[in-house]
Formats: sequence, C-alpha cells, structure tokens
Amino acid sequence: MALLAGKIDMNSAKEHLRSAVLTLQQARIPSASLDARLLLEHVLGLSREQLLFVLENPLSATQAERYRLLIEQRAGRCPVAKLIGQREFWGMNFGVSSATLDPRPDSETLIESVLERITDRRAPLKLLDMGTGSGCLILSLLSELPNAQGTAVDICPQALEVATRNAATLGLASRAQFVYSDWGAQISGCFDVIVSNPPYIPTADIAELEPEVSKFEPKQALDGGADGLECYRAIMAWLPLALAPGGFAAFEIGMGQQRGLEEIVAQQGFAVVASKADLGGITRCLVVQRKE
Ligand code: GLN
Repeated sequence: MALLAGKIDMNSAKEHLRSAVLTLQQARIPSASLDARLLLEHVLGLSREQLLFVLENPLSATQAERYRLLIEQRAGRCPVAKLIGQREFWGMNFGVSSATLDPRPDSETLIESVLERITDRRAPLKLLDMGTGSGCLILSLLSELPNAQGTAVDICPQALEVATRNAATLGLASRAQFVYSDWGAQISGCFDVIVSNPPYIPTADIAELEPEVSKFEPKQALDGGADGLECYRAIMAWLPLALAPGGFAAFEIGMGQQRGLEEIVAQQGFAVVASKADLGGITRCLVVQRKE
C-alpha cells in the first residue's frame, strides 16, 4: 500500500477538477470551469465525452503533477491554446506555439468574406496570405477551395515551421507554399486573392491588453506601429503589383480602423468594396479592389 501511495494520487479526477476551477476563479479567469476541464482532458488525452466516464477514477501522481503545473500556468494567465499547443479554427485543429498568434474566432469573418465573393469554388485560384502565423487563414481557405494553390509569407521562421506542420497535418501541404519574406519582398507573380490579418494594435496599447495577449502572444504579431496601421501601409504599397486583374484583397482590421484603412487603400488607387462584422457586431474585415 505504501508503494502504491507513492504512485497514485488518491483524489479523484473530479476532485482535482473542482480544486482547479477554484484556483482559476481565485486568479479571476472568467472561463475557469471551461479551462480547467480542457486542461484535464489534455493531461489525460481524453475527449470531453471520455472524461465523463473517468471522473471518479484517481489520477496517477504524474498526471496530477502535470495538471497542477498547467493550472498554475493558466492562473498566471498563459492562454489555454499555448498550454495545449493547439487551437480550433474553421472547424480544424491548428498547432500553435509561442511564435504564433492564436487563431481567433473573429478571423473566421475574413474566411466568410472571401468565400462569399468566390462564385466558383472549384476554380484554380492563386491565393496569398501575408503574415501567416499558424497558417490558419490560408489553410482554411485551401480546405474550402479544392483547386486553389496557396502561398503564405511570414517574417518569423518559427511561425513558418508551425504553419508548414499544420499544412501537413491537415493534408494540404501539396497546395501550400510557405515563404520567409518581409511582406512582399521575396514574392513575385500575381494572385487572385490576397488575405492578411496583420499586426494592428497601436504600440502604446499593447501593454493595456489582457495579460493573455500582452504577455503571451508574440509582440511581432500584435504591433501595428504608432497608429496600428503601419503594416497595412507596407502591404498596400506592394499590393498593386501583386493583385491579378479582377482580384481582391481581404484584410482583418481592429476596432475603429475602417476609416484609416480606407484612406490608405485610396492612396494606391483601390477602394473598399465590402465589409463584414464579427459576431460582436464589430467591423472586422474589409475587402478591397482596384477602383474601376
Ligand atoms: N494570419 C494569422 C492569423 O490570422 C496570424 C496573424 C498575425 O500574426 N497577426 O491568426
């Protein structure tokens, strides 16, 4: 019995879960119950349904210790996705790391905007994603457009590794090409659809964000310069060269950035032709085309 006690933590999974929820609530994590459950599922390698069947069982000492460590990190505001190394987007699982922005539901607005404008989903379109991070935008689009080819750039090699791995896991590697590039510098050719969710937080605002973002997301993926619009300027300066005739670009924007982006695109002879709000009613995506 003494031997066994060394290996098994006699508290049931349910008791561990309960005390984890309490720890997270004390740390003022709004999604305490959900996060505690997700992390327990991760430690045990179980789905939500499977977890229900083992709630009365004890955890092994290793499992209990791993769980305790994860809960401690979550209480320190590390996002769940960063702890479990993945995040769901557009119904698919994307690997993430400290080098990539966690895909967010808001960005699904951009996927919807693009798909709404494509009349023939079987067309052999050429897609480009500027600042791909985990690859969530380009890979979601490729999953919906079976004959499209995607190119995605990023300036962070570690992010490109994550995106390349995601393409392979999702069975999309043969249609996706990942390129190390400072925006368009290493890219030639023309694209039918260009998408980007560039860094758009004004530098001075980053420290004010939730600690999950300001402390754990890569600064390079957030920082949009003094007014938050610097990356759009860089992309738009190059876009006229790269967008095929009749093509369009779709950008994710931050709250209140519509007017600013409209001015930037107008300077390049482009116009905003559509916009789409996220589920919270905030305009998240602008579609731009050459002025007629
Ligand atoms: N394109 C990726 C996304 O939408 C990364 C964006 C970024 O790093 N700013 O999540």
